[in-house]
Amino acid sequence: MAKKDLKKIELEMRRVEKEDRIKDKDLFEVVEEVFDRRTVLSILELKRRGCLKTLKGVVSAGKEARVYWGIAPDGRDLAVKIYLTVTAEFRKSIWKYIKGDPRYEWIGKLPRHKLMSVWARKEFSNLRRLYRAGVAVPEPICYNETIIVMSFIGEKGQRAPLLKELLEAGELSHDLAKYILSKVLEYIKISYTRAKLIHADLSEYNVMVWKNEPYIIDVAQAVRVDHPNALEFLRRDIHNIIRFFDEEVGIDVPDPEEVLKEIVGSEYEGEAEGVEGLEDE
Ligand code: ATP
Ligand code: MN
Repeated sequence: MAKKDLKKIELEMRRVEKEDRIKDKDLFEVVEEVFDRRTVLSILELKRRGCLKTLKGVVSAGKEARVYWGIAPDGRDLAVKIYLTVTAEFRKSIWKYIKGDPRYEWIGKLPRHKLMSVWARKEFSNLRRLYRAGVAVPEPICYNETIIVMSFIGEKGQRAPLLKELLEAGELSHDLAKYILSKVLEYIKISYTRAKLIHADLSEYNVMVWKNEPYIIDVAQAVRVDHPNALEFLRRDIHNIIRFFDEEVGIDVPDPEEVLKEIVGSEYEGEAEGVEGLEDE
């Protein structure tokens, strides 16, 4: 998105702040070329609720979702993930995560907009469970329709690097790598034992590193431990992460099957405060 479009939204938001009531027509004439009408309304609703003051710039423009840098009313940096469209590939790619999951199987057939909002809600709910369980994920702040608002990993609109990017930049020393590997394996275990979730798309592309600490991102597809393919997803996550540190970083790594056994064999830990059973929130 061009800078001038963001400027328009900013101006528009400021104007709406001043006027209690605004004719829809006025508002959408200005911003419809950027976001659709629903998305604009949803952004304004988040603003009204005090979740968001300003949308600043694009951090990442993916196929289905964009992540923006935003500012909270208290001045804090935010990451605002907005689902904008549903491609046929997206429908296909999520099917393997929802098939057999009684909570979500039905969403495969939803129309586009509904599917995006259920998916965003699922991401927010997973984020909250993981956060409460003590996994380092962005702090979930608000959600509405197809938008989730979370803490910004990085500062002043500069996002932290992904684990993959850190290696490419030559900034992943072996000591740091060892530490990050141990933390990520610990988070996989805490996710499983306390949040009762499996990320299911974990790799060096979904871990950010900020101030030498790893953060797990992109959790919409995470599945519950009672999902019919839970073990397969967990095994794949563990293998992906260990393979990266073994082959690309070149440090000593544990045997992934041993790690898997240890995690699955461990007792469910006492539940973290605010993380209940398996229900979705
Ligand atoms: P992709 O298909 O590229 O994986 P996605 O649509 O699944 O994208 P995410 O992986 O959640 O979305 O986010 C896309 C990118 O936005 C991330 O790779 C990261 O660079 C950035 N990002 C996501 N969340 C945050 C955050 N909380 N703070 C800062 N940057 C973030
Ligand atoms: Mn991602």
